[in-house]
Amino acid sequence: MNHLTDDEITGFVSFDTLGNESMELASRVNYHILRCEECRERVRISQKLYDEAAFEPAGITEWLSSGGKAEKMNER
Ligand SMILES: [Zn+2]
Repeated sequence: MNHLTDDEITGFVSFDTLGNESMELASRVNYHILRCEECRERVRISQKLYDEAAFEPAGITEWLSSGGKAEKMNER
């Protein structure tokens, strides 16, 4: 099973239009996170960061690529 990529997670939490492409991404992400706790956690924290407007989408990608560790959040 391939894990979700940083771009997929960032796209999932930050998309604001419901086009075919984002629907496809959403169903792929939802399907995966039902089965993968690791990605579910990354999506959950990314969503939280985005909702709180703590990070721009680029910042979320950066955070994910740095390992996506929760303690990173406290450095800002
Ligand atoms: Zn995964």
